[in-house]
Formats: sequence, structure tokens, C-alpha cells
Amino acid sequence: MKNVSGGLPVVCGCEVRGRQWIKGEHGYFAGSIGTGGGGSSGGAKAEKGLDKSEKDDIIKESSDNLIEITQKSIDSIPECTAFSSKELNQKVTEKCKEILTDLKNDKVGTEETVSIKLSSLESEKQKGELGEGAVKVISFDEPFVSIHNHPSGETFSGRDIDKFAYDDNHVAMCVIGNNGKMYVLQKKPDYGWTKFAMESFDIQYKADYAEKVLNGAENYGFEYHKK
Ligand SMILES: [Zn+2]
Repeated sequence: MKNVSGGLPVVCGCEVRGRQWIKGEHGYFAGSIGTGGGGSSGGAKAEKGLDKSEKDDIIKESSDNLIEITQKSIDSIPECTAFSSKELNQKVTEKCKEILTDLKNDKVGTEETVSIKLSSLESEKQKGELGEGAVKVISFDEPFVSIHNHPSGETFSGRDIDKFAYDDNHVAMCVIGNNGKMYVLQKKPDYGWTKFAMESFDIQYKADYAEKVLNGAENYGFEYHKK
């Protein structure tokens, strides 16, 4: 197993973005959105028990239930139909297949992430490092869709939702399970992260945070698709 990126630094812009989110706002979430690496950001997240990592931008799934990727699971990946753009649906489907294909011969549990720019459908990808297999969303300063695999085959984690919810350029997040299941979370046109922050405040630190947000996706300004 090796890192396909050839040792390039992870292109995640979320530390910078974290500061941008907070700037000019009421500091409502200043302690929990964090500014990446800021000492005060880890505590609140860690209490949620959603992930062992203190880093806000890592989206590695913390599950012990690891599914091996087989050709059958790759062949079973459904066509994405979450978007109004046929080209984007095709691109997402293609990239989901590419991710599982890239990881098929790696240690079970390794993750890979791809981000696609909406303007050009150009994409970048990053495979998790040897050992930990951790990935970070690759952020762009323009609208983009991210995809990453979940070795458990399960849906979005609370950390995924937070990573997605607080970046305005992150218009949709897609998870592809190692079993071929596809999950897409998309922001509706009237979505606003400050509104989301207020509406999800009461469930923020609960163990069923992700489940609650996904079950009530429409009320939180999201569209949730699973196939
Ligand atoms: Zn995830």
C-alpha cells in the first residue's frame, strides 16, 4: 500500500476556511467549529465521541466494522441521480467507482477522498496515509462536491456533517460504502450554516447527532439521498 498522492501535502483548506466562517459572525460556534489546530477546538468535539481524532477536518470513519472491497461491490455501485446535472451525476458515479477500485488492493479500512469543482468538473483525490488511513476533505475556494468511502458501508458520521455544514463552497458530500452503497447530502438553495447551527444546537453533543440530522434532513436545509 502506498499513498497515491506521492507525498503531496493534503490540499485541505479547512483551517483557513474555519477562520473565515467565524470572522464576522457571532462566535456562536467559535469553540467547536474550531480553527483547525487551535487548542480550544478539540475539546468540544472530542466530548461527542464521534471520532478519536482531535482534528476537526479529518473525516476518517471511526468504525471497527470494516468491509473488504470486492469487484462485486464496485459493480453494484448505483448511478448517482442526486443532482440536476447529468454530467455531475455521471462524474460522481465514475469517481465512486474509481475510489473503490483504487482501494481494492489496499489494507481494508483505507479511505480515499475526491473533490470535484462544479465549474469545470475537474477533480483532485487523496488516499489515506499508510496505517491510519485518515483522509481530509479537499476544499476549494469555489463550489465543489466531495466524495469519500466508508469502510463500514454506513452513512455520514457526525464529523462528516460538521465538515460539510460549515463550508459554503461544499455544496454536496457523497459517501460511497465499501459495499457499494451510496449516500449524498446536499444543501438546499435556502440553506444557511448559521441557521443550521442554531437548529441543531440541542442535538450537537448527542451520540445520535448524525442520525437526527439525516432523519430530519429537510428541516435542517439538506436533501439526503441514499441508494
Ligand atoms: Zn465519513
